[in-house]
Amino acid sequence: MTIGKVRGLNSSGHKGWFTVYCRICGKPLDLTKDVVYACPNCKDKYEAYFCSADARRVGYKCPFCGKPLEIVSVIK
Ligand SMILES: [Zn+2]
Ligand SMILES: [Zn+2]
Repeated sequence: MTIGKVRGLNSSGHKGWFTVYCRICGKPLDLTKDVVYACPNCKDKYEAYFCSADARRVGYKCPFCGKPLEIVSVIK
């Protein structure tokens, strides 16, 4: 009789990667929890991420280029 080994799988970490900051109010946004809007055109250039309140305030259009904002989500 052997006593079974207990294997611990620890999958924590990754925190910084999923956090972006609202370009307008600077609020930290968790891509796994919050609804985050981004301009597909400017998110790489200007880190154009927006919280839902500010996305509504700009009419869901990018203040940099005027294109419609998209919802960014890492939840699948
Ligand atoms: Zn904001
Ligand atoms: Zn844009």
